[in-house]
Amino acid sequence: MDMTMTNGRTWNEVRAEMESFKDQDFDWKGGRLPSYIYYLDEEMLNIQREAYGLYMVENGLGKGRAFPSLKRMEDEVIRRGLAILGGSEASGGIFTSGGTESILLAVKAARQWARQSGKKKPYKILLSETAHPAFNRAADLMELEVERLPMRDRDFKFDLDLLQTALDDSVIMVVGSAPNYAAGTFDDITGLGEICLKNGLWLHVDACVGGFLAPFARMNGRSIPEFDLSVPGVKSLSADIHKYGFAAKGASLVLFSSAEDKKLAHFALDWSRGTYQSESNQGTRAGGAVAAAYAVMNVLGNDGYRRLADITLGTVDRLTDGIDSIDGLEVIKPFELCIFAYKSVDPGIEINAVADEMGNKGWFIGRSQRPAPSIQMAVNPVHAKICDQYLADLSESVAKVKQLGLRSQFDKNTY
Ligand SMILES: *Cc1c(COP(=O)(O)O)cnc(C)c1O
Repeated sequence: MDMTMTNGRTWNEVRAEMESFKDQDFDWKGGRLPSYIYYLDEEMLNIQREAYGLYMVENGLGKGRAFPSLKRMEDEVIRRGLAILGGSEASGGIFTSGGTESILLAVKAARQWARQSGKKKPYKILLSETAHPAFNRAADLMELEVERLPMRDRDFKFDLDLLQTALDDSVIMVVGSAPNYAAGTFDDITGLGEICLKNGLWLHVDACVGGFLAPFARMNGRSIPEFDLSVPGVKSLSADIHKYGFAAKGASLVLFSSAEDKKLAHFALDWSRGTYQSESNQGTRAGGAVAAAYAVMNVLGNDGYRRLADITLGTVDRLTDGIDSIDGLEVIKPFELCIFAYKSVDPGIEINAVADEMGNKGWFIGRSQRPAPSIQMAVNPVHAKICDQYLADLSESVAKVKQLGLRSQFDKNTY
């Protein structure tokens, strides 16, 4: 490592250098990424950028007293979230930095809830194997136990029979995904709600992916399973605004059916300066993330989100139809919204070798292990323009893999 001192340079020079760094990244504006990016167009990018810049210096930690502006915008963002996700007058929410923090706060609330009821440790969270790793991360921090149950074979959903047999005294929380990121299916939230009500358990719905897409797809007439706060038994729900809400990164909501439950996630301490308090898990907090979310939500409105849902799901249809028409490939079904995966059904075509070939053609490829070794995509509007190119490249890659009997060195996913 070079440990010499470095002196200042002009912004023009540094900026040009930073822009040149991007040459090594995959072309997200061109739709070459199947994940990490939720992107529409240059216009939306500018709205995010300008709104973020407008409030970049303001600090969400002081939202109540120093920056009523931030409180006002944040309250409106939460109100809109509750309005589309089955909230009521009694509900409440917290603006967070992302799904991982939303989940952390939901787990903390559930833990506090169990503590307050006098329940003895250990505490356990029951999940389907498809639930996001963020639940284990939260459990790690809070020294909770996690049990992941195998997904149901036939539809990759939470296996409710298995869940019933796994229930024991230590379980405090159950999680359903809407949809899960592994197979793209919705867990049976209504069924989970019944079990949780009967057994006095906290049910969290992870709608990080579906929260700002599924309600609008439903308004457009798509059939979407019940999954939101209106389902009896659901106590909390996570929904990422920086995914299908199209906000700048650093924006998610954790919503609670009862605003009383939300207090279980808060932090407060009487210290030398008086009471320090924060609803989320952050101290200093980016005002820009709140402002960008507010701006995008207001500019798009329900009609804008419905239009985007149409583009996204129409693109899913085009891609999956195209993939199914390529000999030797098959889209794994069911999947229920915007995330799908496809596998090889021909022993002469190794799917990871196809992924390697697609990588050589400049596509960043998402790979998945279960329910089958597969190539996975989370579709968003930017992909509308790449369907034909993607399918043509895929056909070519499959043909080459089959003809040359290519095998992949690829072993395991890391991301
Ligand atoms: C993205 C995601 C998360 C985590 O959200 P981050 O914003 O990446 O922290 C949790 N659950 C699901 C289903 C997700 O897709």
